[in-house]
Amino acid sequence: MSNYHIKHLEEYFQVYRKSVRNPEEFWEEVAEEHFVWRKKWDSVLDWDFSKPEIKWFDGAQLNITENCIDRHLHIRGNKTAILFEPNDPKEPAEHITYRQLHERVCKFANVLKDNGVEKGDRVVIYLPMIPELAISVLACARVGAIHSVVFAGFSSTALATRINDCDAKMVLTSDGSYRGAKTIDLKGIVDEALAQCPGVKSVLVAKRTGAKIHMEKGRDQWLQPLLDKAYSDYPAEIMDAEDPLFILYTSGSTGRPKGMMHTTAGYMVYTAFTFKNVFQYREEDVYWCTADVGWITGHSYIVYGPLANGATTVMFEGVPSYPDFGRFWEVVQKHKVTQFYTAPTAIRALAKENLEFVDKYDLSSLKVLGTVGEPINEEAWHWYNDHVGEKKCPIVDTWWQTETGGILISPIPFSTPTKPTYATLPMPGVQPALMDENGKEIKGNQVDGRLCIKFPWPSIARTIWGDHQRYKDTYFSAFEGKYFTGDGALRDEVGYYRITGRVDDVIIVSGHNLGTAPIEDAINEHPAVAESAIVGFPHDIKGNALYGYVILKETGESRDRDNLKKEINQMITEHIGPIAKLDKIQFVPGLPKTRSGKIMRRILRKIASKDTSNLGDISTLLNPEVVEKIIEEAL
Ligand code: ATP
Ligand code: MG
Repeated sequence: MSNYHIKHLEEYFQVYRKSVRNPEEFWEEVAEEHFVWRKKWDSVLDWDFSKPEIKWFDGAQLNITENCIDRHLHIRGNKTAILFEPNDPKEPAEHITYRQLHERVCKFANVLKDNGVEKGDRVVIYLPMIPELAISVLACARVGAIHSVVFAGFSSTALATRINDCDAKMVLTSDGSYRGAKTIDLKGIVDEALAQCPGVKSVLVAKRTGAKIHMEKGRDQWLQPLLDKAYSDYPAEIMDAEDPLFILYTSGSTGRPKGMMHTTAGYMVYTAFTFKNVFQYREEDVYWCTADVGWITGHSYIVYGPLANGATTVMFEGVPSYPDFGRFWEVVQKHKVTQFYTAPTAIRALAKENLEFVDKYDLSSLKVLGTVGEPINEEAWHWYNDHVGEKKCPIVDTWWQTETGGILISPIPFSTPTKPTYATLPMPGVQPALMDENGKEIKGNQVDGRLCIKFPWPSIARTIWGDHQRYKDTYFSAFEGKYFTGDGALRDEVGYYRITGRVDDVIIVSGHNLGTAPIEDAINEHPAVAESAIVGFPHDIKGNALYGYVILKETGESRDRDNLKKEINQMITEHIGPIAKLDKIQFVPGLPKTRSGKIMRRILRKIASKDTSNLGDISTLLNPEVVEKIIEEAL
């Protein structure tokens, strides 16, 4: 990939043009360099979005773990691969070298095999952010089993649904987990889930908290004794390029979870390529992504992308608020982190706190900052830029999805000039299109529409596990011959993209299309406002009117509510226009959020339209209690 380590804007445009003019040649060159193939491909790309069917590097054979581990051994054997930072800052960090990682993955692979796991079997991983999580993911890939990681904050119902959906025969878990000051009984949640999962024959339990737990005879085994006995080498299973690598369920902010299936070769090539470019990765760097491996961000940019580049990747077990709100920055200082990648929700939460929590740490090691998961509002962007990056670190606002496997739109640091709230330009090989409601592509700049992608990139999901029709209906039916993202976007005068939110978050008020993100941005500029969410509700004259849920900062709590409402609408009028003024404003203690920090707008929409009889599946909610409060005080 040395050919494709983009270093300035002109080079980006050159590479981009080539990638669009001749995608197959482009990706073939990327794939040729630096990866280990057991056999090269017969064809680079076969695709048909109408079926949909997409194959990259068909005929090639490989194992992704040979690329993430084995091939580094002779040059980076003693380099730290995984740097584990425990929940408790007093517990020492653990440096796992590439050589040690190789041994631990091989041993784990032998344990899986000895316990009946075969190529193609599904293994559900329900582990906290401890090294065993990354190691078990890699061990599955080593034996050719399909891993499905379920975020270890999900309820037993959510876990059971996912286990049954992919028909897993084994579950990997731990006795418990630490999250800040709390200890969570993970094994208890697994036991509850498994009462509804007859297909699971075997459960392997890692020891983390030492809590007393129930071990089901004939089903449950402690992991460590098995690892201790296991042989320390395991010849990697040879996989076809299009063999499934993993299934990952989307975070579920819009309904029934979808098991996105990703395959091997294209996913590897694309995540490695984007990791290198989006984070401008260099050999000596210490890279930290604060996501959980339970999300796609963790799969692609904690485990596979960094390790495929021979990087040092930090795995953080804790939370940003423990032991205090300075924890992130303490860890950055301690490990001299060079790239820091997090979510806007975390930035907003930290920006609410005293600046001392940031200022007292030396953050001079940082070079690049990143965000992912939702649109970042201007205020949070500036806080991040001013106080964390000290105005010298480019911020990569990376737009992508579980379905896309890797980052599709993002600045390339030191090449693409950044612009707050803009994800800016597509990655090489990515061809975005904005579409109008009638299915016509909107050309030119200073336009907005529904965001589609016209051409396959290597890490696009190949199907929804067990439901190809749903895959087709959801992503390939709205706009013929195109992948529909479900998001809206605008393209500014220079061609930069700004994601305006999900298309179903666009509200039509008196015939005007209003995106929720810019309105929320305007509200959040008010000094007393911490966070807000806008939804539409039916209105006799306007069709829809706007309902705003607003969380106040501590400093705003004592203010007169009627005056605040007036000021908020004044802010909106100034920033967007009177058309976007809110009909109703409800001050709330919190907003219903998914475990990945996204607002569950469908619940807020129901409350605003006074239809709270059936709120649907809220099993993935982080804070269900807040829903009750909002309903009680609804206007
Ligand atoms: P579900 O599809 O089940 O409703 P989800 O869409 O929240 O869940 P993810 O795949 O984790 O699941 O999130 C992808 C979505 O997150 C994108 O479609 C987009 O709406 C939003 N998103 C991600 N990154 C950005 C970003 N940088 N800017 C704006 N929005 C983003
Ligand atoms: Mg989605």
